[in-house]
Amino acid sequence: MSEPKETNIQDLNPAQRAVLDQLGSSRDDRPVFAEDIGNHIRRALETAAEPYLSDLPPNQDLFLSKHELGQIHGCQTKYMAERDEEFEWAVNIARGSIVHKAVELSMNWRKEIDPSVLVDESLARYEQDSGSLGYWLQGCSEVERAELRSESLDAFTKFLECWPPLKPAWRPVSESRLRAELCNGKLVLSGRADLTLGTPDGFRAGKVIIDLKTGNFAPLHVEDLRFYALIETLRMGVPPRLLATYYLDSAQFSPEEVTEELLMSTVARVIDGIEKYSALIYKNQVPKEISGPQCRWCGLLESCSTGALYLEESL
Ligand code: SF4
Repeated sequence: MSEPKETNIQDLNPAQRAVLDQLGSSRDDRPVFAEDIGNHIRRALETAAEPYLSDLPPNQDLFLSKHELGQIHGCQTKYMAERDEEFEWAVNIARGSIVHKAVELSMNWRKEIDPSVLVDESLARYEQDSGSLGYWLQGCSEVERAELRSESLDAFTKFLECWPPLKPAWRPVSESRLRAELCNGKLVLSGRADLTLGTPDGFRAGKVIIDLKTGNFAPLHVEDLRFYALIETLRMGVPPRLLATYYLDSAQFSPEEVTEELLMSTVARVIDGIEKYSALIYKNQVPKEISGPQCRWCGLLESCSTGALYLEESL
C-alpha cells in the first residue's frame, strides 16, 4: 500500500472546497469575547439552577446530556416511559460510533486510505472492547453486523468524498468529550462532539464544533450544538467560533456563529429542562403528551390518541 500524497487545493473536489469555504476564516475575522464571559455564563446558570437542585435527594447529582435535554423538551410521556427502559444497542445507534472511530483512525493513518479497511479496523477495535458496544458486537447476529458494516462504510465513504483530508495544523479531534461541573458538582453537563477543529487564541474564538449526520435537518440538531457550545464556554472560558451540522447524504452544512446571546438562550433552555425534570421526577407532575415527528417511531403510539391524531393530520 502506498503512502498518502499531500493534497493541494486544486486536488479538492467542489464538495471538499465547499467545506473549506464554510469552515475557514482569517484570524482577524474571528470574534474576540469579553474576558469574563465564562464566569458570567456560569453565574447565570448556577443562580438559576440552584433552587431546582435543592429538590434532588442528598448525594444525588443531576447529569444532563444533549440526548436527555432533547427528550425532556420533547414528549414527556415518551421520556418517562423510555427512562425506565434499559439502553440497547442497535445498528442505527452503533453506526455513529463506528464511523467516528474510522474518522479518528483516518486522521493518523500513515498509508493510503481505503474506507473498507478503516471501517473493519473500527469494528475490530470495538469488538475487542469490554464496553457495552463491544459486548453487543460480540453477540449480534451476522445480519446485524453486515448491516452495520454496510451503513458505516456508506457514511464514512461520504465523509472522505466530501471533506478535505484533515491537516494536523487544524487540530482535528474526533469524539471529543466535553464536560462542565456546576454548583459544586451537583449539576454536570456532558457531551461528545463528533469532530472539533481549531483552538482559541486568548479570548479570540477559534474552535469549530461539528456534528456529522446521515439523515435530514431537524431543529434539535441546532439545539444540540448550542448545548455543546455552552459546555465548551464553561470549560474553556471562551466560546467556540462556529457550530456546524454536516449532512453527509446531501453534502450540506447547517452552520451557526456563536454569540453571547446564543449562549444565554441556551442557558435558558437548560434551566427550563432542569425545571421540567425536577417537576416530573421529584414533584410527580403528570407528564404531557407532546406530539411531533417522533410519534412515528414511538413505542407508545398504539395506545396514544394524541400521537395517532398528529400522524393522521400530517398525512
Ligand atoms: S405517540 Fe407521540 S404524543 Fe404519544 S407518547 Fe409517543 S411521542 Fe408522545
